[in-house]
Amino acid sequence: MSRPGKVWLVGAGPGDPGLLTLKAARAIAGCEVLVYDYLASEAIVALAPPDCEKIYVGKKAGSHTLSQDEITALIVRLGREGRRVVRLKGGDVFVFARGGEEAAELHAAGVAFEIVPGITSAIAAPAYAGIPVTHRDHNTSFTIATGHEDPTKGYSSLDYAKLANPAQTLVLLMAMGNLAGIVAKLREHGMPGDIPVGIVREGTRPAQETLVATLDTVVSEVARSGISAPAIVVIGNVVRERERIRWFDRNPLFGKRVLVTRAREDAADFSDRLWEIGAEPVVAPTIAIGPPPDLAPARNAVATLGRRAWIVFTSRNGVRAWFDLITPDGGDARRFAGTRVAAIGPKTAETLLGYGIRADFVPVNFDGEHVAVGLSERSEPGDDVLIVGARTMRDAVATALTRQGRRVESVAVYETREATDPAIAEAARTTDVWTFTSGSTVRGLLLNLPDALEVGRTKTIACIGPVTAGVARDLGFDVAVTADDYTVDGLIDALERTPATAG
Ligand code: SAH
Repeated sequence: MSRPGKVWLVGAGPGDPGLLTLKAARAIAGCEVLVYDYLASEAIVALAPPDCEKIYVGKKAGSHTLSQDEITALIVRLGREGRRVVRLKGGDVFVFARGGEEAAELHAAGVAFEIVPGITSAIAAPAYAGIPVTHRDHNTSFTIATGHEDPTKGYSSLDYAKLANPAQTLVLLMAMGNLAGIVAKLREHGMPGDIPVGIVREGTRPAQETLVATLDTVVSEVARSGISAPAIVVIGNVVRERERIRWFDRNPLFGKRVLVTRAREDAADFSDRLWEIGAEPVVAPTIAIGPPPDLAPARNAVATLGRRAWIVFTSRNGVRAWFDLITPDGGDARRFAGTRVAAIGPKTAETLLGYGIRADFVPVNFDGEHVAVGLSERSEPGDDVLIVGARTMRDAVATALTRQGRRVESVAVYETREATDPAIAEAARTTDVWTFTSGSTVRGLLLNLPDALEVGRTKTIACIGPVTAGVARDLGFDVAVTADDYTVDGLIDALERTPATAG
């Protein structure tokens, strides 16, 4: 008998991928079919496995791709066929999202389902604008209502007499189309005209926009500014708090589009950090990682690990490639017994830890000389030292250690190649900041965008360390930001400190 299907109704949160729950991430990572709509973030959709079937069902106001009935029928059919389906919705599943109807139909059809609530935009979008939905000084309750019904068309199920209460916060979703009518009704029922109104568009995303007005001025202010859906409308004195606790859109990189050129395998950490500071990562890897042309030396190094005093990993990719070599023939972390392990950089150490290896030495400074000094202090002349990394590895460490009488071998377990993809040029043209994390990423961009020097004049160019910055300058780029410690965190700090980026 075939395995029974199951449908997860999953809330994707309001946009910032960091606001996805752990449970949602697990469900997405394990699904066979992903059914998603307009409010789900691209970065979240990208968490689905590569072979997962992705079905976009639209639902942008006015341009429905599938009707609600068709969507419900689709997930019921997929569940019955035995598929593991994630139905991903923006915000929360049950807040104006028709999750209740979909769950009822699944139940009626005998398809198993789970509900994974999400962070609703009704609370999160105001929060990212510095507006708390409750505050001791202002209110003891808040109401979340839909503004979808046009109150001027006669019937409305909203009880305006109750909503027109200045002592509670009113949060409206889908209210931009009928704003004038809603405001008129609230005034009619006695809501004071000077009560503050906050409108937050694309909340929690780098495109977030906020408008603050009063009930009397909001309609004309919206017309003047052109702010439009999707937006949350918050009415109440809590909106005043934004003056003091505005934070997300104060980040120096807020709203900037940042080109991430490093290999896809390494892009995720960087992207996450960019999201956190309100920037939008645009991942366009200009280099790709693959096996070196000849793996024989690497295999030989694996077989002779036992006689080495030290093994030195120069990057995360080196660690991963090394384990890719040893695991197929049944090897594991015990191969390292008796050999001490050095990791150049905290990320490399972290990756090793994931394989059960705690590095014996992680230099604080990653340039070749410092690493060599640290290793020679920790070894004896005549000791065998194996350095594992990329084919294009710089050999400052090997040279310095050899001079001190260590027997050094460098072995390539992977290589980086320049990648070509037509999407790279487009991504580069439409970003504000370009980041380079190695010389090869700079060369890779030039390969994909031959007029990169010209285009780059209007961009802020940021490099992870002085060596990369040197390569970029030699190729003709005007480097505005250089981190000094070769880490992504250092690069983010350097970007935040550079006023050029804020322009
Ligand atoms: N289930 C969703 C709401 C879906 S209704 C949730 O819990 O958030 C669609 C409406 O949600 C939009 O018209 C808009 O009012 C609001 N919305 C969703 N995401 C938003 C965001 N990031 N910023 C502002 N409003 C948003």
